[in-house]
Amino acid sequence: MSTQEHRNKSGFETRAIHAGYEPDEATGAVIPPIYATSTYKQDGVGGLRGGYEYSRSANPTRTALEGVLAALEEGERGFAFASGLAAEDTLVRSLCRPGDHVVVPDDAYGGTYRLFEKVERAWGLENSPAAVSDVDAVRAAIRPGQTKLVWLETPTNPLLNVGDIEALAGVAHEAGALLVVDNTFASSYLQQPLTLGADVVVHSTTKYAGGHSDVVGGALVVRDLDVADTIGFHQNSIGAVAGPFDSFLVHRGLKTLGVRMDRHCDNAEKVVEFLTGHPKVAQVIYPGLEEHPGHAVASRQMKRYGGIVSFRVAQGEQAALDACARAEVFTLGESLGGVESLIEHPGRMTHASVAGTELEVPADLVRLSVGIETADDLIADLDRALG
Ligand SMILES: *Cc1c(COP(=O)(O)O)cnc(C)c1O
Repeated sequence: MSTQEHRNKSGFETRAIHAGYEPDEATGAVIPPIYATSTYKQDGVGGLRGGYEYSRSANPTRTALEGVLAALEEGERGFAFASGLAAEDTLVRSLCRPGDHVVVPDDAYGGTYRLFEKVERAWGLENSPAAVSDVDAVRAAIRPGQTKLVWLETPTNPLLNVGDIEALAGVAHEAGALLVVDNTFASSYLQQPLTLGADVVVHSTTKYAGGHSDVVGGALVVRDLDVADTIGFHQNSIGAVAGPFDSFLVHRGLKTLGVRMDRHCDNAEKVVEFLTGHPKVAQVIYPGLEEHPGHAVASRQMKRYGGIVSFRVAQGEQAALDACARAEVFTLGESLGGVESLIEHPGRMTHASVAGTELEVPADLVRLSVGIETADDLIADLDRALG
């Protein structure tokens, strides 16, 4: 077994720190340098060193990141992109053709829904929304022979619905379609969809993978080598690749993913406990709660329940807006998955674009991305914010 093969069979944290990169031959650099180069000197015509020719096709900093992405998802190959949506667009154009059809979550990430509805539809790709928590609804939305992808997010945003990856992989495969799982919310640490039968994992590495709110990026990981070849061809042909500095940041973020996620989960559990008893809170939404409709499935397929907590404020929309405005340790802002805690009002912020549609969210809903600060400070802040 080579050192790399050995590392790929190690525990999650060991893979996060070592997979995909050996200390640099020339200098021993323990961390992959930021290879800020567009092209590479050839040793005679066609004499490429390590396969590097031009940095859209491959760059060593990106190669290191792609190696660890694959190792953490237990996939065969990983691909890094300029954003999560760039990864999604490349995937769709790799595996679908005009006239095809995809099933998408009826509460998909807004940007994903916009991509399918406003961009891919104009290109001739049809979509049908279905509830991810309802296996029969997903099966019914499939058009045999025409559906190429079943697209799943679990847990979803911001209502944290849970889809059964193993069951939905069966439903997709029965119909000759592939199951794609957007694993951004759970992260590779809490859930490995490829091991449950999914064909492709998507990440916005902007979120937990990067983990520090300092980079925008995306990733795909696959287990089938033919699918990998098709995606690799399209990654290079479309060119929405992650640059070397962005690749470096995500690679660095992934080294601490396990410890960060455990602390995100610890803090989220404490916040949930606090909110559950609070008189100003009407409902707490978290897959770790036994009364959550997806609790049993989440318990089977996730290591823990994640760092996102949503709740409904008893006195309605204005009280929810006031709580967002009064929070201080929780920063008012969109996005999620960074070390710092964020608070937002989905109805007016992340989900404003779906107001008046089937995807509309309750007006009294608040979403928290629970960070890794001291838990007591987070709870005191929420107590003050709720008034
Ligand atoms: C943020 C996000 C995306 C889009 O990723 P970008 O990096 O913003 O392009 C896709 N899916 C989910 C679940 C997200 O949270």
